[in-house]
Amino acid sequence: MQKVKITNNFLETVKVGEEIGKKIKKGTIFALHGNLGSGKTTFVQGLARGLKIDKKIISPTFIIVRKYELPATRQAPQPRDFYHIDLYRVESENDIKGLGLEEILNYPTNIVAIEWPEKIEKLLPKTKTDLFFEYLQDDKRSIKII
Ligand code: ADP
Ligand code: MG
Repeated sequence: MQKVKITNNFLETVKVGEEIGKKIKKGTIFALHGNLGSGKTTFVQGLARGLKIDKKIISPTFIIVRKYELPATRQAPQPRDFYHIDLYRVESENDIKGLGLEEILNYPTNIVAIEWPEKIEKLLPKTKTDLFFEYLQDDKRSIKII
């Protein structure tokens, strides 16, 4: 089912991420599409909050991949990891060699949020949640969830 959310400020986008983060039970891949400044990293901060990660989410633009361990919960007692991947600076396959992206994406309990997922189209699993972020005006953004 497709949903569109309009957010009117930074915190509302955090909240959208947080609500989704709270509901994740198994591993999930989130492909976050949209231009610079459209709110992808802000959404990931919310996701992390919903997953009860208390470390600050720092954009992985320069290092590409950041890993966060998830606390076990009653609903999800198995150890899981959350990966925040930002492919903005990736220009060729060479840039992602050795990062183990394929393994990260295929490990069943991993929760992964990827900015600029188009850059690794071939590696993306079929089962994923696509979110399309759009700058509307000033502090207004739209988030389409597919
Ligand atoms: P991206 O990762 O898509 O490049 P960021 O989340 O890093 O985008 O940046 C979004 C910027 O826009 C931040 O500076 C944030 O404070 C600002 N902003 C203003 N309004 C919103 C909103 N409704 N949702 C998300 N970010 C917003
Ligand atoms: Mg970003």
